[in-house]
Amino acid sequence: MAIRVLVTGGAGYIGSHACKALARAGFEPVVFDNFSTGWKAAVKWGPLVQGDLMDRAGIDAALAEYQPEAVMHFAALSLVGESMKDPGLYWRVNVGGALNLLEACATAGVKNFVFSSTCATYGDQDGVLLTEETPQRPINAYGGSKLAIEQMLRDFGVSAGISHVIFRYFNVAGADPDGETGEQHVPETHLIPLMLDAVAGKRPALTVFGTDYPTRDGTCVRDYVHVSDLADAHVLGLKRLLDGQGNGVFCLGTGNGFSVREVIEASRLVTNREVPIVIGGRRAGDAAALVSSSTHAIEELGWEPQRSTLRQMIGDAWAWAQRPGFEK
Ligand code: UDP
Repeated sequence: MAIRVLVTGGAGYIGSHACKALARAGFEPVVFDNFSTGWKAAVKWGPLVQGDLMDRAGIDAALAEYQPEAVMHFAALSLVGESMKDPGLYWRVNVGGALNLLEACATAGVKNFVFSSTCATYGDQDGVLLTEETPQRPINAYGGSKLAIEQMLRDFGVSAGISHVIFRYFNVAGADPDGETGEQHVPETHLIPLMLDAVAGKRPALTVFGTDYPTRDGTCVRDYVHVSDLADAHVLGLKRLLDGQGNGVFCLGTGNGFSVREVIEASRLVTNREVPIVIGGRRAGDAAALVSSSTHAIEELGWEPQRSTLRQMIGDAWAWAQRPGFEK
């Protein structure tokens, strides 16, 4: 029988790609999702439990029914701008939800936990190449809430013997190359899908948030990583835990940063169309540059990113944008 993994947020963008990667690697992903941002149509690779992490009894019931060997925890609010406007929401939902989940795992005896953390835990660090050892100093509530969960994981490791792999994602982009799942947020706030909507005429223009950052062209620099490569890393992280190799923290980026203007230029090359833009002010909570070293994940996990070039990511996102998308 396949090893079961409870995947919170498995109906969302990254979670659904992880479910596909898990199924392909022979695991059974059990999705736990409240559909606040996820899509029923994105649950394709295993059973579904409709539940909310704020409801501890619902988590207990799911763990009792499916007896998973491991949990992959994606479910969270994840918008920097929103977290600056309503920090309480982020602390309550992200930290409260993770706490319920960890306590439920401790009670049920689930010992393996893969956690989706973020480069937003680093804050603004003058464009240095970020590594697992770089001190974390979040500048927004989203990053703060994720850092709190990282610390909680260490405590539950000691008290309940729950081993963890923490992945700090950089900017996730692209879509499943087979077109089975992809990025679909309502409302959309992320650069690449908004840019492609503007290219397709679904929006009048992309607003560039700030051109006065201390970067090479004044726009923010980010390290973009393909969602399928990210999903593959999660399978490797899970195998590491199941092999008993213990806790790990891994940055998932590519080591290459691209500015907003460079992303726009890459889009022009991929789609052969201009991106209509307007220049706007800075978005609160945005760091000037966030770029990671991926050495640790490559050396320790054997991670081999396959599709994380800007052209490939924009190409896959563009192909996904031509499809009908998920219906509610
Ligand atoms: N960005 C932008 N216009 C938009 C959305 C995003 O200029 O409409 C910029 C944003 O300031 C950041 C980068 O694009 O520097 C990536 O933003 P996104 O929201 O995609 O991801 P984040 O870095 O917040 O996780």
